[in-house]
Amino acid sequence: MIKRFTCIMIIALFLSSQLPIVHAEENHSVYRAAIIIDDFGGNTGGVKEFMNADVPITMAIMPFLDESTEQAKRANELGFEVIIHMPLEPKKGKRSWLGPLPITADLETDEVKRRVEKAIENVPHAKGINNHMGSKIVGNERIVRAILEVAKKHGLYVIDSGTSGDSVVPEIAEELNIPYGIRDTFLDDSFSSRNHVYKQMIKLCDIVKKHGQAIAIGHVGVKGNDTFNGIQDALPHLEEKNIQIVPMSHLLNTKVEDNPESFWQD
Ligand SMILES: [Zn+2]
Repeated sequence: MIKRFTCIMIIALFLSSQLPIVHAEENHSVYRAAIIIDDFGGNTGGVKEFMNADVPITMAIMPFLDESTEQAKRANELGFEVIIHMPLEPKKGKRSWLGPLPITADLETDEVKRRVEKAIENVPHAKGINNHMGSKIVGNERIVRAILEVAKKHGLYVIDSGTSGDSVVPEIAEELNIPYGIRDTFLDDSFSSRNHVYKQMIKLCDIVKKHGQAIAIGHVGVKGNDTFNGIQDALPHLEEKNIQIVPMSHLLNTKVEDNPESFWQD
C-alpha cells in the first residue's frame, strides 16, 4: 500500500512537473531559458566570475585541459550542471583551436569512441555533451553515430551547438532515442562587448516568449568577463518578463518523463 501511494505521488509529481509548459501558454506565467557557457577547462576570463555567481548556467567543459577535471568537480559541488564540450574538427580553422585529443574526420570509429570515453572520464559529473567547433564532423554520419552511441551508453543528453546547417546530430539522436536540444541563439563571439551580450540576452527573452523556452550559448575566454557582465545586466529584464534560467537538462524530455512507469520497476 505504501508503495502504491508512493507511486501515485511520483505520478503526481511527474504530471505537475510538466504543467508549467501548459501554464506558459495559458497565462504567460512561467518561461524558461538555458544558458550554456562553452570553453571552460582553462584558466581564462570569466571562469571565476561564473563559478562565484548564483546564475544557474550550464558549464560546458573542454576535456584534457589543465583545469578540466578540477573545474568539473568544483562546478558540480557548487550546484552547476556540467556538460562535456567535445572538440570536433571544423571545415575551416586552426588545428590549435581544437585543443588536445579532438575528434577529426580521419579517425577510425573505435578511436572516436575511445576519445569520447576518455573525455567522459576527464570531465566528471557530466550530464550531457555539446560540440566545440565541429562544422566538418557534425555532418559526418559515421562519426556522429560513434559519438552518440557512447553518449547513450553513459546516459548523456546531446546539444547541437548549430555550427553547421548540415548537422546530422538531431536525426541520429532521435533515432537512438537520446534527449537532445538545438541552440537557438549565441550570446557572443570573439569580439563581443558587454552591451552586445546584453542585447543578445534581450533577443533570447523574445525567443523564449515566442516558444516558451530557448537555449543560448555563450563563452568564457578573453571576452569572458564581457559575457558574464552582459548576462548580469540582463537579469532584471528576465525577472520582469518572468523568465527563469534553468539547467539545460530541465528543458529536455528525458526518458523517465516520457515513460514514468519505468522509473520504479525493479
Ligand atoms: Zn567552444
